[in-house]
Amino acid sequence: MTAPSPLPGPHAPSLDLGGRTALVTGAAGGIGRACVLRLAAAGAKVRAVDRDAAGLSALAEPAAGLPGTVEAHVLDLTDLDAAEHAAAGTDILVNNAGLQLVRPLEEFPPDVFHTVLTVMLEAPFRLIRGALPHMYGQGWGRIVNISSVHGLRASAYKSAYVAAKHGLEGLSKTAALEGAAHGVTSNCVNPGYVRTPLVEQQLADQARAHGIPEERVLTEVLLQDTAVKRLIEPEDVAEAVAYLCGPHT
Ligand code: NAD
Repeated sequence: MTAPSPLPGPHAPSLDLGGRTALVTGAAGGIGRACVLRLAAAGAKVRAVDRDAAGLSALAEPAAGLPGTVEAHVLDLTDLDAAEHAAAGTDILVNNAGLQLVRPLEEFPPDVFHTVLTVMLEAPFRLIRGALPHMYGQGWGRIVNISSVHGLRASAYKSAYVAAKHGLEGLSKTAALEGAAHGVTSNCVNPGYVRTPLVEQQLADQARAHGIPEERVLTEVLLQDTAVKRLIEPEDVAEAVAYLCGPHT
């Protein structure tokens, strides 16, 4: 992987991450799970981090037989020291873990606001901080931050999530500027609505906040401003992540 790669073209070889280590947070479900399997399919040795032990265990079956390996690491990212420690020595870092609460600002619980900012902004900072010494030491590293359309635009009733994602955009840009001279790239991926538990679990909250029945939320709220009227699949996002972990970024 250290040899210069040819430019991509119609006959470019598929992504080869053999010999690379990767850490993916929020790996037990949704987008994180798809990223773990995609990177392992490319040959990476993936450390799958989540607080959901059962969800991590469920990765074993689909990971069996892939060229790479998947190692489960149960960790609550609000333990920031442990998060920083866990990132030491990784070549690829995918900051993906996230949570959502849909609630008007005046009713938004301060403790939830704090937790969202901790998991979705401060933990990525600590993970990057933990990963950089090794990446800088070898002159190569890939940081991919799963942001969102909400890193670029706001939606009503999502103050903590929108604030965290806007912060993550700034963190990612700063890491890109500092890392460039060391062969380390940092990029954000900004999906619209993806078919995951995070979206499915907010349908009831959205219905309540907008005063409409739950079955109308998908078309009238979530996909209202989306050109293509369908949810994105987690594997679509994982493909973009895989590209950003390769040699062409
Ligand atoms: P998800 O709920 O399916 O997965 C999130 C994972 O994060 C879960 O496995 C959960 O256990 C883990 N997690 C949450 N808090 C944690 C903590 N304290 N410590 C460790 N793990 C923790 O959600 P998803 O939709 O797959 O979202 C993944 C990322 O993608 C998030 O950052 C989210 O903001 C982003 N995103 C999602 C969508 C979407 O429509 N689903 C759109 C754009 C961006």
